[in-house]
Amino acid sequence: MAISFFKPKAETVENRPIIDLRNVDKFYKTAVGDYHALTDVELQIQAGEFVSIIGKSGSGKTTLLNMITGIDRPSNGEVWVNNTAVHGLNENRMARWRGKNLGVVFQFFQLLPMISVIENVMLPMDFCRMYSLPERRRRATELLELVELADHAHKLPTALSGGQQQRVAIARALANDPPIIIADEPTGNLDSKTAESMFVLFNDLVAKGKTIIIVTHDSAMAKRTHRTALIADGEIVNEYVAKAMPTLNHTQLLQATKLAELLTFEAGAMILSEGTNADTFYIVTHGTVEVVLPRPNQSDVVALQLGPGKVFGEMEFFHEKKHRASIRASEAGPVEALAITYEKLSELLEQSEVTREALKEMASKHNGENLSWRGVSS
Ligand code: ADP
Ligand code: MG
Repeated sequence: MAISFFKPKAETVENRPIIDLRNVDKFYKTAVGDYHALTDVELQIQAGEFVSIIGKSGSGKTTLLNMITGIDRPSNGEVWVNNTAVHGLNENRMARWRGKNLGVVFQFFQLLPMISVIENVMLPMDFCRMYSLPERRRRATELLELVELADHAHKLPTALSGGQQQRVAIARALANDPPIIIADEPTGNLDSKTAESMFVLFNDLVAKGKTIIIVTHDSAMAKRTHRTALIADGEIVNEYVAKAMPTLNHTQLLQATKLAELLTFEAGAMILSEGTNADTFYIVTHGTVEVVLPRPNQSDVVALQLGPGKVFGEMEFFHEKKHRASIRASEAGPVEALAITYEKLSELLEQSEVTREALKEMASKHNGENLSWRGVSS
């Protein structure tokens, strides 16, 4: 079998993702000892992506954002943002770097109450001095127009509704035209209609080329971003595990992530051969695999192509434990897949009857398709 172990990609600055967290740990010192708030977090986000972060309260979402913004520092590991080693910046350089590279939006807006709306928006520009004085005011006015609040420029923030204040906070986050916007539960205090208009605004900003990361409790909203990172107990759940077994709870998804082994296969490599013993369940995480079926008196046929988040090996788990098809990596490129042994899959499914039923149903469907492809009536 052409199995080789996963190798991390070559690290060159040119192709480093705009956000690149490597082996990040965060311990908080507490009266009862260290609290491990983040464990070995790996997170890569490409420029232009709109990523949501979800997870229960206390799972580490804000801690994770604080690593990216440099508001707090990792205990171990590296945090690269826009090709800067944030973990290595000193306090003096940090504030100015943040002002130019990141716009941060908080759940409780955090506008300064004693100065007007437009002055709040100008504040980051005054701090970073990338624009001349007259430019700052013009730019602030334009940003307030963008969030449809130009008429309120000279009011104090407290004269505005929550949704309006949050829009001011977004205008302020855009003040220095940063490539990245980070928002921690930005819609958490807004009614659903106002939250929706904020989401539309974020979508427009992504269309204009910004990279946006939002923490949200709203799973429907998370589904509308490009990609969701789920965090459970301070660890990131593999997104394809979450896609493949959406009915597992967060703790079970994390467990599945940890017990899976990542395998890579070269383009065109045979992964499993028909007729051999089956003992492993697979989740495709990169590339495409082909399900190849023999047919009586006919040539083999590629019955199915499976991309990231799709699974194979589930049919044999529930039926006869011999491979009923061959699986090979497509010629188009290498394939990565997570492998979970049947023994470990059993343990996992014992904890979630609904997931067992869902996989079983998928297995029955594939079994029927398998038989009809072979020209055998089921
Ligand atoms: P979330 O944003 O997902 O609700 P947080 O990142 O705020 O979670 O917190 C993650 C965990 O770390 C929680 O258990 C929280 O109590 C703990 N924690 C956060 N900040 C500190 C701190 N400064 N000192 C000690 N523990 C903290
Ligand atoms: Mg939080």
